[in-house]
Amino acid sequence: MDQKTLVVIGGGAAGFFCAITAARLNPGLDVIIVERTGKVLQKVKVSGGGRCNVTHACFEIEDMASRYPRGERFIKKAFYQFFTTDTIEWFQSRGVALKTEGDGRMFPQANTSQAIIDCLTAEQHRHHVALHLNKAVEKIVPSANGFTVQYANNEILQADFVMLACGGFQKVAQFGWLANLNLKIAEPVPSLFTFNFPKHPLNNLMGVVASDALVKIAGTKLSSQGPLLITHWGLSGPAILRLSAFAARDLAKVDYHFTVIINWSHGYTEQSFVQKVQSLRSNAGNQKPVNGNFTGLPSRLWEFMLVQAGIDDTKRWADLQSVMVNKLAKCICAYEMKADGKTTFKEEFVTAGGIALSEIDANTMMSKQHPGLYFGGEIMDVDGITGGYNFQHAWTSGYVAGKHIADESGASM
Ligand SMILES: Cc1cc2nc3c(=O)[nH]c(=O)nc-3n(C[C@H](O)[C@H](O)[C@H](O)COP(=O)(O)OP(=O)(O)OC[C@H]3O[C@@H](n4cnc5c(N)ncnc54)[C@H](O)[C@@H]3O)c2cc1C
Repeated sequence: MDQKTLVVIGGGAAGFFCAITAARLNPGLDVIIVERTGKVLQKVKVSGGGRCNVTHACFEIEDMASRYPRGERFIKKAFYQFFTTDTIEWFQSRGVALKTEGDGRMFPQANTSQAIIDCLTAEQHRHHVALHLNKAVEKIVPSANGFTVQYANNEILQADFVMLACGGFQKVAQFGWLANLNLKIAEPVPSLFTFNFPKHPLNNLMGVVASDALVKIAGTKLSSQGPLLITHWGLSGPAILRLSAFAARDLAKVDYHFTVIINWSHGYTEQSFVQKVQSLRSNAGNQKPVNGNFTGLPSRLWEFMLVQAGIDDTKRWADLQSVMVNKLAKCICAYEMKADGKTTFKEEFVTAGGIALSEIDANTMMSKQHPGLYFGGEIMDVDGITGGYNFQHAWTSGYVAGKHIADESGASM
């Protein structure tokens, strides 16, 4: 009986999960992980501030899938095979219990990503998965009997199955080494980035958080609600990161020239805000707005908006003219900020784009053009918002591919 070989390209979360799953489910399979650098699982190590945000405590497939701006329908199918509950169970049964934080993010109870790395490495050894470090794959050539995998130093490996799990690339040109496979590539654009408003006066409030803001992109239906953080360069926080992910393609199209409209205090509309101020003018006319922050917003933000509306700290509610009230309502409920470009391409946690999903069977992660070639993790055109979704995608796609490879290799033995 011929021993079949699986070559996994990329020693990240998706590559490890595929390799371990395939080797565990078919111990007769020869499994090799090939990694370009001298270290594996480096993103696992740094993610979640060194704690590794393994997954998210979301237990409804529809709901979970909706957190992926690209790939929602595709990943939903895969979740039926390996979901968050399976991730939790997988790690728990191997001695790594996970805990859930208030916002739903799940981390190892030990609070360090090393617990995940140790677990994956132990499984790799247990299932005799070989590791070739410092080997960059430069070409994959399909043939009648499988694939020839070529390293940068011209060494070659023969493989019956190949798993491509080499992470995201920021430019189409970086997919050039796969050109002979003729795969469609969805153009990479940044996702999960903060918004830059250099020299905006609001930046003086850096560190201030509006805990329930609604942020919209003018001229689109794109919006996001949640905590918003003012930084020394502009805006960040969960509401902004989520919006940047869902708007990633639209914002790239306009070269990051766009206007955001912010409702800082999502409890009010402009109309209900004006009504509230009218009632204060009648019922608490002698009180000063500077001491009368009724919005629940941080006082520094409230004071800033009063200044923007031309209301100085000598004014009482009764002194406010309609024009001031309307201006303040606009500042609190529909504050506009114009972004003129994006300064950095470094801060993103993930890249949108990659191997087009039309190339991949979501039930197996196998290439539709090249049977025996599989994909996992960020190299595909799937990306999630922050909160553990990108790792869940890596575990799910790695598992689905590994299982299918085990089935296929076992069936032919
Ligand atoms: C700073 C940071 C923090 C993050 N925090 C979180 C978080 O908290 N939660 C979350 O869910 N996600 C987070 N992410 C995203 C998450 O880390 C990735 O989505 C996930 O690691 C992708 O796994 P992967 O296996 O697809 O790719 P990777 O982890 O990128 O692994 C790919 C591997 O392939 C290797 N490789 C590439 N090309 C070749 C080649 N030609 N030959 C051989 N090897 C090759 C690379 O060196 C790399 O080791 C974070 C990302 C970053 C950068």
